[in-house]
Amino acid sequence: MFGECHAHLFMNGYNYHEAVELHRDRPKEDDIREKLRLYQEQGVTFVRDGGDALGVSALAKKIAPEYGIDYRTPLFAIHKNGHYGGIVGYGFDNMKEYHSLVKRAIREGADFIKVMFSGILDFGQAGALTEEPLDAEEIREMIHIAHEEGMAVMAHVNGAEAVRNAVEAGVDSVEHGNFMDEDCLQALAGSRAVWVPTYVTITNLIGSGRFDDASLRRLAEQQGERIRRGLALGVKIALGSDAGAYRVPHAQGIIDEYREFQRLAAPLLTKEELDARLAAAEHKIQKRFFRV
Ligand SMILES: [Zn+2]
Repeated sequence: MFGECHAHLFMNGYNYHEAVELHRDRPKEDDIREKLRLYQEQGVTFVRDGGDALGVSALAKKIAPEYGIDYRTPLFAIHKNGHYGGIVGYGFDNMKEYHSLVKRAIREGADFIKVMFSGILDFGQAGALTEEPLDAEEIREMIHIAHEEGMAVMAHVNGAEAVRNAVEAGVDSVEHGNFMDEDCLQALAGSRAVWVPTYVTITNLIGSGRFDDASLRRLAEQQGERIRRGLALGVKIALGSDAGAYRVPHAQGIIDEYREFQRLAAPLLTKEELDARLAAAEHKIQKRFFRV
């Protein structure tokens, strides 16, 4: 079974506020064990977390080996105050504060640094993001500071310009990567970065009634085309479902993501070729997002 390269163990797949309530005072070990058991049952032995502000992934990392799981975490994600990211981490106002958060993550045992460079998809409005991304200089400096500290960078980033800026600055993984254009996909293909599209965060919403299904289908179609194009260009693409997000249950999320990839890759790659590509990209993540 493939690893889950993008999960948030503290979330439950249906209600963010309930998840926060559950872990508010201290991380609830029973809940963490239950989720780790789900991964174990599916034969998932590698999980990379995207962070939380409640200490859940920190505790999960400690007990995951009991479930035969190699669990990597940034502990918390880092965002610029006033921008998206508060739901999974801490904010900064200037680069000095950013650097302090990077050092704090290192001190507390993070395996890598998770940063937020852009908003999220506006599901009610196909083609739109919820906010303007950080600018090229901020993106470059944030990646540089983390690298200087010896840490790999997992970046939440959407939008062609922001993704290209991150890729050109040497980011280690691009999470989501919605709205990339051809130019951006080619830059990605020529870079060291691994792309984790978290495709099911779109497709699993279809039929939920929360958003307009026609908009969701359009978004899914567009992102599906980008994944196909990425595969054709030789982009390193790994499976990650953003498990814990709405309608993306733990352990099931990665199964859903793999099924979607098989569908998307069908005319282009054989199952063996797809599996080899996905395994190679996951291997890169395993090697890079690690601190001894
Ligand atoms: Zn995430």
